[in-house]
Amino acid sequence: MQHFPIFLAIAGRRIVVSGGGDAALAKLRLLMKTEGHINVVAVDAAPEIHRWAAEGKLTLTPRAMDRGDAICAALFYAANEDAEEDARTAAIANAEGALVNIVDNLHDSQFITPAIVDRDPVVVAIGTEGAAPVLARKIKADVEAALPASLGVLARIGKTFRHAVDVLPMGAKRRDFWSAFYFNRGPKAIEAGQDAVIPALETLLDEHIMTTDKAGHVDLVGAGPGDPELLTLKARNALDKADVVIHDRLVTPEILELARREATIIDAGKEGFGASMAQGDIDALIVEHAAKGLHVVRLKAGDPTVFGRLDEEIEAIEAAGISYRIVPGITAASAAVAGIGQSLTKRGRNSAIRFLTGHDTKGFADHDWRALAAAGEVAAIYMGKKSARFIQGRLLMHGANPDTPVTVIENASRTDQRILATTLSQLEPTLTNANLSGPAITFYGLAPRHALAAANTLLLKEAAQ
Ligand code: SAH
Repeated sequence: MQHFPIFLAIAGRRIVVSGGGDAALAKLRLLMKTEGHINVVAVDAAPEIHRWAAEGKLTLTPRAMDRGDAICAALFYAANEDAEEDARTAAIANAEGALVNIVDNLHDSQFITPAIVDRDPVVVAIGTEGAAPVLARKIKADVEAALPASLGVLARIGKTFRHAVDVLPMGAKRRDFWSAFYFNRGPKAIEAGQDAVIPALETLLDEHIMTTDKAGHVDLVGAGPGDPELLTLKARNALDKADVVIHDRLVTPEILELARREATIIDAGKEGFGASMAQGDIDALIVEHAAKGLHVVRLKAGDPTVFGRLDEEIEAIEAAGISYRIVPGITAASAAVAGIGQSLTKRGRNSAIRFLTGHDTKGFADHDWRALAAAGEVAAIYMGKKSARFIQGRLLMHGANPDTPVTVIENASRTDQRILATTLSQLEPTLTNANLSGPAITFYGLAPRHALAAANTLLLKEAAQ
């Protein structure tokens, strides 16, 4: 894209046009739609320009452009139909700080004027960077046909009716209402005159209130380990359509950034040990919003099916008779193992991997320590920071080799990812010394691949100095 389309605030600002012939007339017809102050500088202005000047639609300076004529102008058009005069006047305007367009001279113009479909306040601008004027005309004709002529009037009337529509649940229901208004009922009503529009809006609103079905929908979405690029497309689409996003503490701000701009964002963050919002309250929150007919995205770190208390939420949603869908995500173990250059399973090393939690509702979680203590076992331990000493003790007690590699990955996939390579016997104090503040996952039985381990040791040494 060589030209970036913007809408320039022009009301009350000066626009200077040098030239008074056909080229100037064509531009003036467009410019007079704006609320800018137009000044035409021309030795020999066409009769229309004289008329417009007499009617106060623009001012006319009946001489050749001179220094000072473009001071404080926002835009300048060189429409002299004479290349030399265009270059001379454009140089003046440029020096005086106006943005310059030279009619029919794309190369020397600082901006170009698009083809416009005007349904003020709805304005569609079409540009082809000068490459295909025929195409622009065709697109303009198509857009003209697609947008009801009354759209501008409807948009202005609709604006005054906006908060009456607050009775409809926000999101899809409101969007349906407005689309029925702009493209169906509004254009029909306006045929009977502008006064018919508000009554038509009222009738339409009543109809929509009556048909608003009460059940919304819940997407239970995996947000992945933190890097927004590790979101699935399904997760992105759900965020794009969400009316309400209820998220965990571990979901990163970069990911929340991707939610639909109008969505309400609710932090249901829970700290391990000492909940800041009880699970029952979260279940109730989800149901409460969905029952209003809203599209709720319940956004959970990693994969929602891994240590996510998903089933409790599903039971509450099902009990309320609300539809739901699970959108899987990348779990912390997958991101973390990629971060240390290893695989979760490897032929000849481990043909199974366990996902363990360091603690459960009763406190530190118990596992089959004897089985885990056998050589070659690999486990990904979630929520294992506070329970590290307990896990270490249990494994050693059941005969695990103290030299078994253990790797702790903090903030996996994020820019502040940290890798601590240690052994079972050194897990504590390594963890205490590292003073981790982010989420961390522990791999029991896995060391970082060689090069990563070396770099990591260096980092640890630097940190210790
Ligand atoms: N459903 C999540 C896990 C929720 S339990 C998932 O699939 O990943 C919360 C635990 O996940 C944290 O205590 C930590 O052990 C782990 N975790 C989540 N995100 C992490 C990340 N980016 N890096 C390291 N561990 C993470």
